[in-house]
Amino acid sequence: MGNSKGLQGQWQRTSIANVRVAFGTGVLLGLWRGQLTVAPTTAHFLTYYEGRCSANCKFCPQAREATADLRMLSRVIWPRFELEKVLTALKKNSNKFERVCIQAVNHPNVVDDLCGLVMCVRNACGLPISVSCQPLTKQDIERLVESGAERVSIALDAVTPELFEGIKGGSYTWQAHLEALEHARTIFSNRVSTHLIVGLGESEQDMVERIQLLHGRGIIIALFAFTPIAGTPLSGHPQPDVASYRRIQLARFLIVNNLSRAERMRFENERIVDFGVEQDVLRETIESGEPFRTSGCPGCNRPFYNESPRGPIYNYPKKLSSQDIVTIWSQLGVT
Ligand code: SF4
Repeated sequence: MGNSKGLQGQWQRTSIANVRVAFGTGVLLGLWRGQLTVAPTTAHFLTYYEGRCSANCKFCPQAREATADLRMLSRVIWPRFELEKVLTALKKNSNKFERVCIQAVNHPNVVDDLCGLVMCVRNACGLPISVSCQPLTKQDIERLVESGAERVSIALDAVTPELFEGIKGGSYTWQAHLEALEHARTIFSNRVSTHLIVGLGESEQDMVERIQLLHGRGIIIALFAFTPIAGTPLSGHPQPDVASYRRIQLARFLIVNNLSRAERMRFENERIVDFGVEQDVLRETIESGEPFRTSGCPGCNRPFYNESPRGPIYNYPKKLSSQDIVTIWSQLGVT
């Protein structure tokens, strides 16, 4: 590592001597053993911090007031591991991945930690690096680029200001998130994404209209299905209805590929009843299976991040089989 001395110094000031590694990533890196139904195509890391995130998102096991297991993010376990060992393993195994994603919990020095981790990963392999973090200042986003990040994601999670306030308020504001996405766009151009969670209480129409607005601003949209986690205030909240999730996936795909627009779609009781495209386009799009695969940065498949491999599957982590397409048709209830 060319500048390892400088990074060593940085490790002492910050907390990146350790990093959290998503379970499937650790298996592919050979850090531990485990069975994988589908291998992750992105290596996922999370900043390690001895304590909880300073924010308080109601769905998140890392949140300030959550009592959940700190090794969890969504339904995935992220054990702590020494960074040096992780980097050695990444050097040897980078050909197993298409991308690295570094996620952050909010804590003092988070930007230093993120920049340090990005530099270390960049020195260990040639994979493109995504950073998924809270809203940062323009200067801090510039630091991420200088460190070697290829793209950035700032998660809105909720799609209306009211839901956002109820679920992420106190620590974050809707306006600051939107502004941070705009700032990120000026720096990362078309390499900015956001995560949206389906099932937080929004309607299908809310979701589709937000997707259209964000797409219009050049933001890439990664869809997640709400996943209840023990020890969080939303632990008793249900996962979204699968049929509704399918309609939203289909609407997202049509919008981001400029095949339709929210204004061309029709809603009844805020539920999508017409996708605003000809029947043959709709049929071909569904038959391709593409709308139902994991969405977000290129090369990110997040296997079973929101669901058990036993199903129901919300985001398919690989190309759908013909049997999967039959299942999708029955879930959508369109013929
Ligand atoms: S879409 Fe995947 S790679 Fe991109 S920020 Fe989200 S989790 Fe990371």
